[in-house]
Amino acid sequence: MHDYDESVRRAGGEPRVLDLAAGSGDDPMTGVEGLLLTGGGDLDPALYGEPRHATFDAAEPGRDAFEIDLVRRALDANVPVFAICRGIQVLNVARGGTLVQDIPDQMPGSGVHSVREPSFAIAHDVWIASGTLLEQLMRERLESDTCPVNSRHHQAIKAVGTGLVVSATAPDGVIEAVEDPTRRFCLGVQWHPENFYRTGEFRALFEGFIDAARR
Ligand code: MN
Repeated sequence: MHDYDESVRRAGGEPRVLDLAAGSGDDPMTGVEGLLLTGGGDLDPALYGEPRHATFDAAEPGRDAFEIDLVRRALDANVPVFAICRGIQVLNVARGGTLVQDIPDQMPGSGVHSVREPSFAIAHDVWIASGTLLEQLMRERLESDTCPVNSRHHQAIKAVGTGLVVSATAPDGVIEAVEDPTRRFCLGVQWHPENFYRTGEFRALFEGFIDAARR
């Protein structure tokens, strides 16, 4: 969690970890001004009506339902949402979308999306769609409409969820970012911008999220 916390702090936010094991009683969303969804294991494909692929790697018990509920409530209340890696997949499934369960198996010929070490190693470019929130946030550091990113995922968005717009794709066609233009701030990215907190390549994304949470 260190890199997420550090990225939020450096953008002027105060991170608070919502504990899935906290149990009933206090509403975890009380006082939350922005929801950041972090990386992790695979969503149960039953949530989008598919059997499990052989490579299925479950997240913590209860985490799927917990996060889907949080993101739906945040979007209903127009609370800013920034969804990273597993988070973009949670966001998509919460909106009725589906996932590619294993990129190497189900998208033959695709590029490499699992580069583990170091965490900030560049794996591939993404093409950023013009007119999107992502482009607006990244504009100052983009010399073109492409941007190099890290990549540690074996799943990706397949059918895009209701109301979401694709704002970045990898050269092989893998969806790398989506957003909901009707919300104050709702951005999902498939890479890990938090791993760049030392050098600030993606600080604008965290600053945009924190600024929206503050408004
Ligand atoms: Mn990738």
